[in-house]
Amino acid sequence: MLEIKKIKKSYNTGGFKQDALKDVSIKFQKNEFVAILGPSGSGKTTLLNIIGGLDRYDSGDLIINNKSTKKFKNNEWDAYRNNCIGFIFQNYNLISHISILANVELGMTLSGISAKKRHKKALEVLKLVGLENHIHKKPNQLSGGQMQRVAIARALANNPDIILADEPTGALDSKTSVQIIKLIKKVAQDKLVIMVTHNPSLANEYASRIIEMKDGKVIKDSKVEEKNLNEKNYTIKKTSMNFLTALKLSLNNISTKKGRTILTAFASSIGIIGIALILALSNGFQKEVDEFEKDSLSQMPIIISEQAVSMDQETLKKMQLNENKLKKYSTKKLVYAQDDFTNSMIHKNVITSDFIDYIDKIDSSYVSGTSLQKSVRFNIINYNEKKGYTLVDLSNQMAPWSLLPNNSKNSDIIKENYDVLAGKIDKNEIGLVLQVDNKNRVSKTILEQLGINDEKISFNDIMNKEVKIAINDDYYNYYKGRFMPTNNYEKLYNSENSISLKIKAIIRGKKDKEAITSGSNILYPSSLTDLVIAKNKDSKIVKAQEKLDYNILTNQKFDNENNTKKATLAYLGADSLPSIIYIFPKNFETKDKVINYLDKYNNNLNQDKKIIYTDMASMLSSLSGNIMSAITIVLIAFSSISLIVSSIMIGIITYISVLERTKEIGILRALGARKKDITRVFNAETFIIGLISGLLGILIAIFLTIPTNFIIEKLSGLANVAKLNPIHAIILIIISMILTLIGGFIPAKVASKKNPVEALRTE
Ligand code: ADP
Ligand code: MG
Repeated sequence: MLEIKKIKKSYNTGGFKQDALKDVSIKFQKNEFVAILGPSGSGKTTLLNIIGGLDRYDSGDLIINNKSTKKFKNNEWDAYRNNCIGFIFQNYNLISHISILANVELGMTLSGISAKKRHKKALEVLKLVGLENHIHKKPNQLSGGQMQRVAIARALANNPDIILADEPTGALDSKTSVQIIKLIKKVAQDKLVIMVTHNPSLANEYASRIIEMKDGKVIKDSKVEEKNLNEKNYTIKKTSMNFLTALKLSLNNISTKKGRTILTAFASSIGIIGIALILALSNGFQKEVDEFEKDSLSQMPIIISEQAVSMDQETLKKMQLNENKLKKYSTKKLVYAQDDFTNSMIHKNVITSDFIDYIDKIDSSYVSGTSLQKSVRFNIINYNEKKGYTLVDLSNQMAPWSLLPNNSKNSDIIKENYDVLAGKIDKNEIGLVLQVDNKNRVSKTILEQLGINDEKISFNDIMNKEVKIAINDDYYNYYKGRFMPTNNYEKLYNSENSISLKIKAIIRGKKDKEAITSGSNILYPSSLTDLVIAKNKDSKIVKAQEKLDYNILTNQKFDNENNTKKATLAYLGADSLPSIIYIFPKNFETKDKVINYLDKYNNNLNQDKKIIYTDMASMLSSLSGNIMSAITIVLIAFSSISLIVSSIMIGIITYISVLERTKEIGILRALGARKKDITRVFNAETFIIGLISGLLGILIAIFLTIPTNFIIEKLSGLANVAKLNPIHAIILIIISMILTLIGGFIPAKVASKKNPVEALRTE
């Protein structure tokens, strides 16, 4: 069943060639108990290792059940060791950190036997060797004889055809030795047992065949007659350790050095903690900013006014060049003329009716409203018991009136952004809407515009207040070829031509919409503009202005730049195109669509016909976003260094573990583990450490967000900013595992390359 033919094996150490086996040929039978005797160094162990597939012969052949092993691949040798061979060593070679039961099961695990079967078989063989009461003990809790019994049980577990025992009694007293030999003989009745021993009397008494060796040669063989048994042909069942077994093995190993593992994991989790905290913070801040943008900034209108700033690349480049020309502080007593780039950055938008049509056609699902503000002047007169009748100066920039935006289809921009506190808003009804701030305050200037001088006033009294808009023909008196504003405000106020305005509603910006609705304001519907224009467009002053090429009120000649006839006519109330257009995007997503739509208008238009919009929201948000991501990247880069350090550390730790577990590597290989499986065992170890350090890092980071948030709230008033995104947490744990795996990869490879024979020899 097993034959070795002209086997030669030599070792090369330091240039010196040592022939361990010199042309050894032996035929073994099934059911033999072969004892190999010989002095130390005669090649007995080498022979056993070669028969067991732990070591490779240099020349000759090993024939197993009629199959030559000359062309065996590594995995075939692994399978052969696992299926056909049971090893028993002088120093037992048990894995110390797992139980006796697990030691016996290990070989079966490698051959993929199910847990239940494995357990049953292990119990069976442990009972056979008389250890059924010790199965949960660790090897170092047993006596030498008991440990050798475990080794015998392990050798039997996979039901091999061949048991190889290398001085199994070498470390035992004579009484125990006899017991062990007897046991081997008993349990291996139907097997081929090849046992190396120093003890000739034991060999003589128990062996059925004695082979004596000397200097790598067989010098005597008490060969018995060859029985020609019906021999089966050799087939192999390949082995492989699944990752779960590797994990269990490593988990057990790690649990014997808990302190070290925790410390290692903690040290390597520091990088993770740093990055997790930074991510939690920047994530929180970004969320804060995003929320702000989504809720309010995105609804900040896109503004198209008659003048816009266009920052094109060319201008920016020119500015840069200009700055770089004079680098240092000048020491010369000279004054330099500087180009005015601001002028070339101002773009004049000519709002045409084509453009208005284009705006009208914007997809109504993108916008919640638009507002087309015209520049017609309102001649407003108010009345106050103390101050009498006064003209309201709306050119006061502190308190301009604003146009109520028009709703687009399916949305009510006012309802979305404001709470109505009193009255109701009807855009067709001529009247005003008063916007109060979140503490119901209204600026004094605005109250004065309404003729109110009180410190406090009830909603009712406000709603009863009335102001008037006088028409041009009442307001401008024609006198000696010139139009002069009247100062008889009482008459204007009481004129039946004047438009009466009352506060129809009081509103307040919603809490989360403060970016666009904070503060106080007076809002008017576009129907009021239309009415004022309707009443004024045929007024005498407008008719007169149409014929003149100078400003009828100031007598200034129109230049074509700022003081245009068109603007003056619009101011006086001749029907006109809007001077400012506000577009209110519905939300964050549709805002981009609005911008795309506006950009499309400019395609193929000359520079002077282009319409350039101002998008305050994106200017604000891109600024904040850029700063935030820059800070985040820098901080993460710093923390990553500690991640790299920790993965190097893991490499070192794993390497130490490989050194510590060399013996285990040898045992696993003897039991049929492939090189791959050994790599797997150590990868499993780093996997566990990586997982622990990742989890630990995330846990500590989450814990640290509590004081971090506390400090941030103290400093900035923002609550619960630092919040770790669960996806980031998972990614970081995975990164931690990948980095530790990388760190442990080389040591794990080193482990797998270890020669099993040498590995077994280490203490
Ligand atoms: P035995 O088991 O009979 O005492 P071994 O088979 O262990 O003898 O060794 C046979 C010879 O081969 C010895 O001279 C030993 O020094 C040498 N030898 C065994 N293994 C190695 C090795 N890995 N490297 C170098 N020499 C070795
Ligand atoms: Mg030996």
